[in-house]
Amino acid sequence: MSKAVNIDWKTIGFKYIKTDLRYVSRWKDGRWDAGELVEDNMLRISEGSTALHYGQACFEGLKAYRAKEGGIHLFRPDQNAKRMQESCRRVLMPEMPVEKFIDACVQVVKANRHYVPPYGTGATLYLRPFMIGVGDNIGVAPAPEYLFCVFCIPVGAYFKGGMIPVNFTVSDHDRAAPHGTGAVKVGGNYASSLLPHGLAAKRGFADCIYLDPATHTKIEEVGAANFFGITGSNRFVTPQSPSILPSITKYSLMQVAKDYLGMDVEERDVYVDRLDEFTEAGACGTAAVITPIGGIEYKGKLHVFYSEKEVGPVTRKLYDTLCGIQLGDIRAPEGWIFEVKE
Ligand SMILES: *Cc1c(COP(=O)(O)O)cnc(C)c1O
Repeated sequence: MSKAVNIDWKTIGFKYIKTDLRYVSRWKDGRWDAGELVEDNMLRISEGSTALHYGQACFEGLKAYRAKEGGIHLFRPDQNAKRMQESCRRVLMPEMPVEKFIDACVQVVKANRHYVPPYGTGATLYLRPFMIGVGDNIGVAPAPEYLFCVFCIPVGAYFKGGMIPVNFTVSDHDRAAPHGTGAVKVGGNYASSLLPHGLAAKRGFADCIYLDPATHTKIEEVGAANFFGITGSNRFVTPQSPSILPSITKYSLMQVAKDYLGMDVEERDVYVDRLDEFTEAGACGTAAVITPIGGIEYKGKLHVFYSEKEVGPVTRKLYDTLCGIQLGDIRAPEGWIFEVKE
């Protein structure tokens, strides 16, 4: 298992590569089977699978980190497991028990341990658990069978030349309905984001900002990441809404802001025409931890927060602290680091 892999950790980026083994468990007749690691990265499923027609599917994303002392850490995998259960409840899929979800992630990390990038490269092993409705079916109804899978890919440091702010534009499209599926990580949400993202990218923006679907006055999400702003009085503010996907990174940053940096934190409405209340802003999620927001274009005007060129000091401190916790360099709150015993 200590097979060396020939990967340049500095240039891998974020793209699919086939690693050695992935985990598959099948649900049928009311129960999950034992699950197994397989070499084949192809799924053979019925043409009638609900995942293909009706989007009965959900996914998660989390990372494994190589610590300085050599161990491998997962960051709060129980939170991903619980969030996947929420997704499953919303689209009538069977829940995967938390212990089995974590065990599947651990098995995949161990089986592909030579793909876990070394400490200090900024690269990590990204895990992609997902569940899909499969089996012979045609009507709009829950599937007769389900697959739960976990695969992994090594991914590069998100910011190669250090953190750089990027600009976003406010979209006229909605990613979610007021009482729809915005708060769960189900497949359809992302198909509908491809066009708004494409339109923003064509105009030179990193991605788009989605407003609340009911009134179009409040910030909800930044592409597929959550929004936060830092006020002049050093408060960490993030929007509250039933159609925002609850980012584990965001809730971790809130705790870091409060307990490590002594800041006040607030979840509340963030009005898009009141951006001047923030001295810094960022987008947060597993992929980049934090993407500093240079400016937001709204109604033809670009509102710049701290700078379009430099990262603000609070954003940097939040980023350094959370990354230090994930790597094991900074003492983590109870239960945040799950050690993979090799
Ligand atoms: C996954 C996701 C996030 C980030 O969640 P993390 O748990 O921090 O990775 C934010 N918004 C959307 C829409 C997402 O799909």
